[in-house]
Amino acid sequence: AIIDAIRSKDPDRFLFTIETYPEYGKYHWTGHRACNVSLPPEEAKNLGNICPVCRKKLTKGVEQRVDELADRPRGFRPKDVPGYKRLLPLSEIIQTVLGAKYPGVQKVWKVYNNLISRFGNEYSVLLEARFDEMAEIVDADIAEAVIRIREERVNVIPGYDGVYGQIRFPQEEREVEKEQIPNQTSKEAVRRQRSLADYM
Ligand SMILES: [Zn+2]
Repeated sequence: AIIDAIRSKDPDRFLFTIETYPEYGKYHWTGHRACNVSLPPEEAKNLGNICPVCRKKLTKGVEQRVDELADRPRGFRPKDVPGYKRLLPLSEIIQTVLGAKYPGVQKVWKVYNNLISRFGNEYSVLLEARFDEMAEIVDADIAEAVIRIREERVNVIPGYDGVYGQIRFPQEEREVEKEQIPNQTSKEAVRRQRSLADYM
């Protein structure tokens, strides 16, 4: 029924469209995986799409391509589409909270299966499950993360050159900055950290 409602675009039947964050894709920003360089369209353009590390051509990301086509303003939405609801895959939310390297590891699936068996399916967990109901069967941090994703209180670090985007909860972001900035010796690295934070 959810699929029918999405296909029919009927706002009375389905009040929002579910999509993922475009930043989550692995070619969103422009960059070089091997050089650890990731740039928003404007910065890549200013550098002439040349990598500041290896001086070769950068792998152009989706956002820059869209900007170049520029036949519609950013944030444009077609008229008959109900509001967007942005979600992220449950297994990858759990992976992020547990600090697991891959979503496929057993400790992630154990939590995932607990939630699915209690609430029926992934959409019920992501869209409807109450915090206290979830916290009865899984770690409260997981329950909190699901609520945050639902309320879109999350940052996504854009993917680039084959590297997937990453889920970051604002709290984590502050911790990362605290850890890294006092130890930075390179101005470039500080600048890049700031531009990433600005983007959020
Ligand atoms: Zn490079």
